[in-house]
Amino acid sequence: MSQARLMDGTALARRIVEDTAKRATALTERTGTAPCLATVLVGEDPASVTYVRMKQNRCRKAGITSRHVALPAATTTEELVGTLRALSADPEVHGILLQHPVGEHIDERAAFEAIAPEKDVDGVTFASFATMSFGLPGFVSCTPGGIMRLLDAYDVDPAGKRAVVVGRSAILGKPVGMLLLARDATVTYCHSRTRDLSSAVREADIVVAAVGRPRLIRGQDIKPGAVVIDAGYNAGNIGDVDFDSAVEQAALITPVPGGVGPMTIATLLEQTVHAAERQLGVA
Ligand code: NAP
Repeated sequence: MSQARLMDGTALARRIVEDTAKRATALTERTGTAPCLATVLVGEDPASVTYVRMKQNRCRKAGITSRHVALPAATTTEELVGTLRALSADPEVHGILLQHPVGEHIDERAAFEAIAPEKDVDGVTFASFATMSFGLPGFVSCTPGGIMRLLDAYDVDPAGKRAVVVGRSAILGKPVGMLLLARDATVTYCHSRTRDLSSAVREADIVVAAVGRPRLIRGQDIKPGAVVIDAGYNAGNIGDVDFDSAVEQAALITPVPGGVGPMTIATLLEQTVHAAERQLGVA
């Protein structure tokens, strides 16, 4: 079997961001208002600080303004909910991103639910999960949305295919399975309690690895000709798929880095501009 074709998330994300920047400029010229993303960070976890800064920089380059709200680590659920409700009600803010995880003393779900669905550009609310699940218009979780765009860009139609999603987190595994189901794939979820993961994965026409365990999925687990999406990102730029063996089996595969990763932020930026277009009455 020949080696798999690589699914180039970097190039696709660049095209999406260029298009998004053009839309942001057009919106600003037409309405006099630039799209605005509010980022909310609780505490000073270094990785979270870096992620938020990166998102703000990328916003700036795409013509999106950002408003940053930095809250102390001791912020209570009530205070965070109050901040998010105020941003939800603020007409100058079009999208809201709560950097997570938040501290363990905070009820993260209560915080997410304080984000107005029309500003939920990170796709974390129950309302967004419901629209994703029903295949209705709305905002998607950014990494799952990016994965679907990659599949579309490489002409992978999920309809009728067996998709196996390894991982069931609220931001990644669960929603990507629902998006695949909404596109008529036959979806199996695997997780830490799944017995005989290899057999389950071997059935898949589309494998989505969303686990956080380096090289858990190996080439011998991949059905020849399958599409392999590796959302995992582990220390040392290592995915959840053993790339060297999987590339020999798959037809299409995402590299790590340069596959799913860049698609996440591209989706965030695109959804922010879309939210602004809707709120400013031009979409
Ligand atoms: P998470 O919340 O820790 O969830 C991991 C999932 O994997 C859980 O559902 C867990 O099962 C399952 N799991 C753990 N060990 C397993 C095993 N041995 N066999 C089968 N399933 C197993 O992680 P996450 O936030 O979804 O992230 C997953 C990976 O994606 C990480 O590497 C993360 O860095 C990466 N990620 C990348 C992006 C991006 O932009 N590229 C965005 C988000 C996450 P249980 O539910 O039973 O515990």
